[in-house]
Amino acid sequence: MEKIKMITPLVEMDGDEMTRIIWKMIKDILLTPYIDLKTEYYDLGLEYRNKTDDKVTVDSANATKKYGVAVKCATITPNAQRVEEYNLKEMWKSPNGTIRAILDGTVFRTPILVKGITPYIPTWTKPITIARHAYGDVYKNVEMRVSKGTKCELVATDAQGNETRETIYDFSDSDGIIQGMHNKDKSIESFARACFNYALDTKKDVWFSSKDTISKKYDHTFKDIFEEVFNADYKDKFDKAGIEYFYTLIDDAVARVIRSNGGYIWACKNYDGDVMSDMVATAYGSLAMMTSVLVSPEGIYEYEAAHGTVQRHYYKHLKGEETSTNSVATLFAWTGALRKRGELDNLPKLMEFADKLEKATIDTIESGIMTGDLYLLSTLPNKKKVNTQEFLEAVNENLKKML
Ligand code: NAP
Ligand code: MG
Repeated sequence: MEKIKMITPLVEMDGDEMTRIIWKMIKDILLTPYIDLKTEYYDLGLEYRNKTDDKVTVDSANATKKYGVAVKCATITPNAQRVEEYNLKEMWKSPNGTIRAILDGTVFRTPILVKGITPYIPTWTKPITIARHAYGDVYKNVEMRVSKGTKCELVATDAQGNETRETIYDFSDSDGIIQGMHNKDKSIESFARACFNYALDTKKDVWFSSKDTISKKYDHTFKDIFEEVFNADYKDKFDKAGIEYFYTLIDDAVARVIRSNGGYIWACKNYDGDVMSDMVATAYGSLAMMTSVLVSPEGIYEYEAAHGTVQRHYYKHLKGEETSTNSVATLFAWTGALRKRGELDNLPKLMEFADKLEKATIDTIESGIMTGDLYLLSTLPNKKKVNTQEFLEAVNENLKKML
């Protein structure tokens, strides 16, 4: 078979530990034999980030802006222990944080469903995508402990120097706590656009929820901005695509989500998204089956797995022991990116290849061949646990039959 040609390069962001090992296996076993893979390579492995004073991360984000589509391997976010382990010059920031800040993007997380792994909520027969607004609120708060007798006020000074004051609480009878949070209209609008664009892209409804009945200015602003952006720029497109947007109170959203069959995008404020994405991921079974894509308001896409570098497996691998690490989410990051590249460059063959590779992966698991994490969860009677490489080779056998 002739290799599939590409036009524009994908931005390839390599990473760390076990996922770096998997990255290479995926390319060697499932991609380069079939595609004339064109990538602009950035090594976001911690050693090279350290060597370049983290410039490589910024460069990779700028390249993503230029080309429009990136695929990223999981990377280490350094902590004190990593600074020692890798002899780092500095405790470099999370690459995902840096990239997200440059692209001003929203992260969408979607589980991959397979037969034999039943969600804890069995009615969830379709994936629920969580979109988390990753700016502001409690994550950028200022807070204080205050002593009895303290009167606390919110003071805003405008550009002309005029002050507006509002009493938060007069702590006349007890010590206590206060907190200040903010968000920006601009950021909320970007979030709304990213959600609506992604919905059109994936043909899914958007649900957005907040607590506007209690928070009549803060949360209500989110509700209003979503509605304005939707009515101005998306309503017609949604009608044409046969999808819908609706807003509901967070309490009602939670109840509806539990009763639903899935299949929609649930847009959440920062804190709700943090909590709900963990709940949804757990309910669907495995973090290793959760994909993640960062979408900017201009429609730039960066695909990755939601999980980390699977450090424990990597140390086993280094000792020469066999690993059974799940490569599915990383593989779907590649297929997502290739499909998007194919769509933008009008390369139906590349899109078809991505579809077939995903199907071959799911067929493999549904035929009973899976890595250890899924083996523990699967109810298939004929299930068989294989190692990291054997799994990818089994996918390749299925893929060959389809091509
Ligand atoms: P992790 O790498 O997601 O792994 C946590 C545990 O989940 C693993 O030890 C493993 O459980 C299981 N697991 C996760 N992915 C798996 C897979 N593909 N196949 C099989 N099992 C899987 O999280 P972590 O150990 O907390 O973090 C490790 C490093 O990843 C950290 O340095 C962190 O900074 C980084 N991280 C990066 C990203 C990112 O780049 N997007 C996200 C999160 C974390 P068992 O050990 O029980 O098998
Ligand atoms: Mg969380």
